[in-house]
Amino acid sequence: MNLTAMQAILDKIRAYDKIVIFRHKLPDGDAVGSTKGLREILRLTYPEKEIYLNNCDSSEYLTFLGDEDEPQTDEFYANALGIVIDTATVKRISNPRYALCREIVKIDHHIPIESYGTTEWVEEERSSSCEMIAAFYAAFRDELKISREAATYIYTGMVTDSGRFRYREVSGETMRLAGLMLDQGVDADRIYAHLYMKDASSLQLQAWALSHIKFTKNGVAYLHITRAMQEKFALSFESASAAVSYMDSIKDSLIWLAFIEAADGSIRVRLRSRFVTVSELAECYGGGGHACAAGATVNSRKEMNRLIAEADQLLGEYKENNEGWL
Ligand code: AMP
Repeated sequence: MNLTAMQAILDKIRAYDKIVIFRHKLPDGDAVGSTKGLREILRLTYPEKEIYLNNCDSSEYLTFLGDEDEPQTDEFYANALGIVIDTATVKRISNPRYALCREIVKIDHHIPIESYGTTEWVEEERSSSCEMIAAFYAAFRDELKISREAATYIYTGMVTDSGRFRYREVSGETMRLAGLMLDQGVDADRIYAHLYMKDASSLQLQAWALSHIKFTKNGVAYLHITRAMQEKFALSFESASAAVSYMDSIKDSLIWLAFIEAADGSIRVRLRSRFVTVSELAECYGGGGHACAAGATVNSRKEMNRLIAEADQLLGEYKENNEGWL
């Protein structure tokens, strides 16, 4: 735990009476939960400060967590502290106006690609940015206040980014901090219902997808969800993107990839793996993320096929050089 960085962030927060909180595009539970959780903690603790959450996009499946705030003026930003959470690179920040802020704090748990904050706290071994916000609260709980609402946001992101507390980064500390959030009265059953109940169209895509998964020579599993498929099943881009999880437990496939075609013709790539590192492969295509969960974008089928071939090679090498994988 980097107490020096945490203390430096608390000092910055104390010093500003205007604060704006930002996150990455295409937000997941961790991006939304960590930013909303921190906003609530800071609003409760410092009611005299003006604290807002301003981003330019949202995710349907997280609407149960509520709205964000109206955008502030340029002048407001110029006098504000900007806190960017869960975002490794500037180009992934949802709201480009973050750059107007007088100073920037970066809080993140992704593999660091780029430094953009005047004060930074990055711990890539953390299972989520929400875990970091929970740790921040725990470290300064004599000063900081929390509520059931704040804890609900934070707990939600801890659940989603850790694959329901299954991934390698989950530690004893993760569970202790999750416990601290539950102690605030979080209704975990309700959160799980919101996150994991499926509508019929998603199930139909899943049924189709399960019989259309392709495999490379060395066992990389992949799905290509074209615009035509999205139209056929009346699916949003976001629901189609969930297809990556259909391949997450195929014994021989330690790497699995979903390619989801966007309206502009580009193809979102979601890379997942067990034991093998795929973040470097994502970085080769301008993306990034974590060792076993990363994202990128490709712009043609040719580029997609090249990425698949490279993933295949990676998996082949892993299997050749490692024993004991499933
Ligand atoms: P996703 O497949 O979008 O859920 O992404 C998996 C992980 O990789 C998340 O932690 C994302 O924040 C990160 N990620 C996704 N796309 C990118 C990108 N283009 N650049 C950097 N990180 C990314």
